[in-house]
Amino acid sequence: MTAPDLDQSRPNGSLHPYGEGELFGKGKHLLSVSQFDRPTLVDLFTLADTVAPIAQRQLGRGDRQLATGQTVCSVLDGAVLGSLFFEPSTRTRLSFESAFLRLGGEVTTTTGFTFSSMAKGESIEDTSRVVSGYSDVLVVRHPDEGSVAQFAAASVVPVINAGDGAGEHPSQALLDLYTLEKELGQRGGTVDGSTIAVVGDLRHGRTVHSLLKLLTVYRDVSVRLFAPESLELPDETARHLTSAGHRLTVCDTVVEALRGADAVYTTRVQRERITGEVPASIQGNLIDRSVLAEADALDIVIMHPLPRDSRHDAYDLSSDVDDLPGLAIFHQTDNGVNVRMAIFLTALGCSPEMVRVTTKQRPWDATLHWNR
Ligand code: ASP
Repeated sequence: MTAPDLDQSRPNGSLHPYGEGELFGKGKHLLSVSQFDRPTLVDLFTLADTVAPIAQRQLGRGDRQLATGQTVCSVLDGAVLGSLFFEPSTRTRLSFESAFLRLGGEVTTTTGFTFSSMAKGESIEDTSRVVSGYSDVLVVRHPDEGSVAQFAAASVVPVINAGDGAGEHPSQALLDLYTLEKELGQRGGTVDGSTIAVVGDLRHGRTVHSLLKLLTVYRDVSVRLFAPESLELPDETARHLTSAGHRLTVCDTVVEALRGADAVYTTRVQRERITGEVPASIQGNLIDRSVLAEADALDIVIMHPLPRDSRHDAYDLSSDVDDLPGLAIFHQTDNGVNVRMAIFLTALGCSPEMVRVTTKQRPWDATLHWNR
């Protein structure tokens, strides 16, 4: 097997050494979903399918049997991930790290400002240059919009944006659309031509911004939006959708948004990004069983990037929907691992063939891994 080949050359004076604005691929940063067209997306999803058995330690999805073998891979043997999270994270950090570990790589990690030299006043650029010298790829989350691009500009290895403030969260949008394709596919549908309700805090929800931008590579989608007052979608994101020829309807109620939709994507109120008081009208549940029943949408595909805010009156998705057939929120979290594997493999130039020859079945005790 040839070692993953990472071109670290960097044109003098270039702000984005791996070509921001170019399509995502080998040796490129992943900063925005605008780095995907349809073929690039299809390639990534195909790779995500290829590595799904490694992510899920099982031989395939769908059969209701226990897994009979443990699929392990060492394609990233010797590679080091630098995982830098300057904002809270559970799923994104652990699934990126799990993805790298399950491909045979190793992970170094720092979380929060307190435990990094940024607490001593170190700049993003210095931090990035230093840490990228210790790693083969960086995953970075930071509270300021545009900050991960700053990291990328100073890094000597590819940087993956794991969320920059209210800006973007590209890996989440990729796993969301991967999941939506699977969920609609199981019902005989496709994302092309579908109707999707997007509800909640559309102003600050970076996963919504990335999802709606990425939808522009699909055809003929109807998007029905509902946001409470002051949390409406930024005009720029709305323009992305309409300029791609999609139909955009702004609804007055969540029930109106849900009626007739194939899927709903809902988010929590991003309280950490709201300055001042959260409007008093934002209380109760945003979506619960009775809202879905009123919209005649009890069988709709239900998606949420998580975390779900389970506190009283948090205006989020109620857990009383958890036994509905369309609940896909844990399929999203599971799919996050193989989609993030595909991101690493692409950035580090590993082909499906390289994965194949470094993958084997291990006869570990499989009883802890039930099919999902
Ligand atoms: N986990 C997602 C994010 O980091 C969604 C959220 O926090 O509400 O943006």
